[in-house]
Amino acid sequence: MTQRIAGSLEVLDLVRGIARLNPNKPASTWRGEATAHVASRGVATNTVFAHLVGKNTPHTLSAAEIDHLVAAWIRDESHDLKNWMLKSCDKSDAIRVAQFFTAAHPTPLASDINEPKETERHLVTTYRVLRDTALARRIKADRDYKCQICQERILLGDGTPYAEAHHVNPLGNSHNGPDDPSNIVCVCPNCHVKLDYGAIKMDQVLFANVHSEFIDYHNTVICKFDGRPHLF
Ligand SMILES: [Zn+2]
Repeated sequence: MTQRIAGSLEVLDLVRGIARLNPNKPASTWRGEATAHVASRGVATNTVFAHLVGKNTPHTLSAAEIDHLVAAWIRDESHDLKNWMLKSCDKSDAIRVAQFFTAAHPTPLASDINEPKETERHLVTTYRVLRDTALARRIKADRDYKCQICQERILLGDGTPYAEAHHVNPLGNSHNGPDDPSNIVCVCPNCHVKLDYGAIKMDQVLFANVHSEFIDYHNTVICKFDGRPHLF
């Protein structure tokens, strides 16, 4: 996937989540907040924006035009945004773009989103959850929603696959793990609990995508006691 499409889909994924929390705000606000958030990871805001509007493609849009497409997509389920992205993206990205827009049931937002209203006032928390969801979706999709521990692939009643993303070195204040693919695994809810509470140790062979530093963190800090079963 090109950087432009990866960045744009991440922004649009955030837009979708922000719009759900703030349905009455204008699309320019959703876009501005999502863009700023992606930019907060170190990419310049104008680069994120340039990706989103297809700068340097023959189909560049203005800010007002992209906001118009986004609003119609969110509010009226219009296909115009998808059609414009398909027209402006490289052929190799077309399938990924189409998948993004045709997911009949987008993965539910992280459960934290459904906590009482008070938590929504803490923008940092909200954004972290949304951002995790964007990255988590990508990782879960890449692994076809299959648990990296027990290999189970859960299908919900409507046929949608379900998996959860776990940060091996947790993100919270006391742990400060990164929101990075080298720190994220795709697991079923059962195995997720076992990892969260240190019921099982992790093995580098099974989790080849995870940085050894985070595996060590899990095995020594999260699993505080010796004698936990080791995963092979
Ligand atoms: Zn599992």
